[in-house]
Amino acid sequence: MTRNETKKVRIGDVWIGGGHPVAIQSMTNTRTEDVDATVDQILRLEKAGCEIIRCAVPTQEAALALGEIKKRIHIPLVADIHFDHRLAIAAIESGADKIRINPGNIGSEDRVRKVVEKAKERSIPIRVGVNSGSLEKDLVEKYGGVTAEGIVESALDKVHMIEKQGYDNLVVSIKSSDVLMCVKAHELIAKECPYPLHVGITESGTLMSGNIKSSIGLALILSQGIGDTIRVSLTGDPVEEIRSAKLILRTLGLRKGGIEVVSCPTCGRTKIDLIGLANRVEQMVADIPLDIKVAVMGCVVNGPGEAREADIGIAGGIGEGLLIKKGEVVKKVKEEELLDTLRWELEHWNE
Ligand code: SF4
Repeated sequence: MTRNETKKVRIGDVWIGGGHPVAIQSMTNTRTEDVDATVDQILRLEKAGCEIIRCAVPTQEAALALGEIKKRIHIPLVADIHFDHRLAIAAIESGADKIRINPGNIGSEDRVRKVVEKAKERSIPIRVGVNSGSLEKDLVEKYGGVTAEGIVESALDKVHMIEKQGYDNLVVSIKSSDVLMCVKAHELIAKECPYPLHVGITESGTLMSGNIKSSIGLALILSQGIGDTIRVSLTGDPVEEIRSAKLILRTLGLRKGGIEVVSCPTCGRTKIDLIGLANRVEQMVADIPLDIKVAVMGCVVNGPGEAREADIGIAGGIGEGLLIKKGEVVKKVKEEELLDTLRWELEHWNE
């Protein structure tokens, strides 16, 4: 896949744009003022593979908390600001590695300028974020409703405002919960805008609908080479966002590494608890740093054949299963010992 050539931007010690790998972001859902809870969640997200984290900054206390949070985490910290430019300034002073603002709701060009001056002083990027839900009235009228063209014009207006203020250390995001509108908006803005794009489908829903909408939207956008960072927005534990983001990037060939689990859908031949087993395997391998494929198959009819294409696999029998490594049946294992056997094999994979 040929990726769009965008400007290189540094967020803390992570580079995005300019051909750097698509970075995975998430956002905490703890109260940012609660430093311990926020740090705990960020450390869990880091472990899952999060590369950039954003925290809401609705109060001065939250802006101040960023300084303490930053000391205890290992990935760049982004401050999410709405309405109050003083919060943006305080967040930058606390050491935020990037700030996300919607210049349209900061109040005036002069207030935006104050934020820009502070960002300039610390050389940190500003993400200009525009959502379809907050599209200006005149653009809604001009385009006869909320449209991709309107969202793009709104975003570009803000970008040009900040450029005129003498700053181009920018990232842009345009979001909509309408997947196809979001895709179209990204296609349009990618042609007009040299800055890295942060891509996500907003308000996409709970685990199932959020994953489906995000996968479709992100795949359509990323497969055109558009996008420099992503967030899968889910109503749930943000760790799930990271798992989904990694899987989306791996499926599109934009990331390597991590264990891929393939499992059969089960059928009338399945004689073990394959659904439970496949879920437990998926959870177990999430943190194992191997770049291999694991197959979890329900029967010995198709199982061994499918498992052969994987590096290691299980094919269920009656109350037992076959362990297959690199296409060879290695041994028969009791059903209740299958998970532990597989774990042992993975932990000793490179020996
Ligand atoms: S692998 Fe076996 S159990 Fe699984 S769907 Fe295929 S035939 Fe059915």
